[in-house]
Amino acid sequence: MNVENPFRADLHCHTTCSDGSLTPIEIVNLAMQVGLKGLAITDHDSIQSYAQALPEAEKIGLEMISGIEFSAMHHASSVHILGYSFSVGHPAITEFCLKHQQRRESRNQAILERLAANGMPVSQEEMLEWSLGSASTVGRPHIAQAMIKKGYVSTVQEAFKMYIGEGKPCYARGGSYSVEETIAVIHQAKGFAIIAHPHLIKEQKLVEQLVNLNFDGLEGYYALFYPSQNERWLKMAARKGWLVTGGSDFHGAIKPGIPLGASWVGEDTFRFLQERYKQNLHEEA
Ligand code: AMP
Ligand code: FE
Ligand code: FE
Ligand code: ZN
Repeated sequence: MNVENPFRADLHCHTTCSDGSLTPIEIVNLAMQVGLKGLAITDHDSIQSYAQALPEAEKIGLEMISGIEFSAMHHASSVHILGYSFSVGHPAITEFCLKHQQRRESRNQAILERLAANGMPVSQEEMLEWSLGSASTVGRPHIAQAMIKKGYVSTVQEAFKMYIGEGKPCYARGGSYSVEETIAVIHQAKGFAIIAHPHLIKEQKLVEQLVNLNFDGLEGYYALFYPSQNERWLKMAARKGWLVTGGSDFHGAIKPGIPLGASWVGEDTFRFLQERYKQNLHEEA
């Protein structure tokens, strides 16, 4: 092991293909600059970044595995699920991403209608502007940016807190996919299904239900939490015999204060995930 620069892999970050502010090419280069050796991009409901990120990573010598962060619902609660190591072109994943894109189109439309009814019109074009029209996943952060630009709010946080956060006047839930079907899709593509940032789950009952589902692991290391706050999740994973992943959840300018590499996993975890990733690539070839 290199003591000066040990192997670190950030397994959770977002690009302009969903609600991050850096392009896939920029994020791969930033990962190198901050001294990461491994990376997984986990855009919301999208694998679009990989077409650009993989060749760039190969060019500069950064190791990558596949990743995604699916939005799911468990009864009335929203749950984020990370998928890793599946082959990027697997039809189960691409078809599910397409379904999410359609779900988001109708939900975003419903949110725009509510904003208009509340005297804050935002057009489709204005919503898409922040992603330069190129994101496959458009969501509330894009709407929030348009609201700032139009002077309705001054920060993304304010947009969520006042208008588009869960339960607020312009929020629309729209359609959804269950946790169970999301896990099944990831497993169909021979990937690992991981509970994202369990630290953020407020209801104890939901935690109890999730840990009894067919997950392969949980995200035990997550930026902005003290090591003592990770303890509970590391113990839970050990008890279940689960994988423990970790990452920063870097979004760039949209969530300032969380740098890429703020949370990470070591070489053993990365190699374990990478082995399955390579096996899947090999089988696909
Ligand atoms: P959506 O996927 O359209 O439901 O939007 C959810 C995304 O918005 C999350 O993944 C975060 O990136 C972002 N987000 C959620 N809550 C907030 C908040 N209070 N402030 C800023 N960004 C948020
Ligand atoms: Fe996000
Ligand atoms: Fe998340
Ligand atoms: Zn995320």
